[in-house]
Amino acid sequence: MIDGEKCEICGKPAKRYLFASFLCDDEACIEKARERRGGPGGHKKLKILDGM
Ligand SMILES: [Zn+2]
Repeated sequence: MIDGEKCEICGKPAKRYLFASFLCDDEACIEKARERRGGPGGHKKLKILDGM
């Protein structure tokens, strides 16, 4: 656990620092932080369109 920091997505105590955000160990939070940062978010949309 990171002292005094909270997950920026759900507000639980932070356990890691990823994508320029403090995050807990919930994969959903990690995914949201990744999308929020941009980058792979656009890639995901392209993959969805590709599959249709
Ligand atoms: Zn969280």
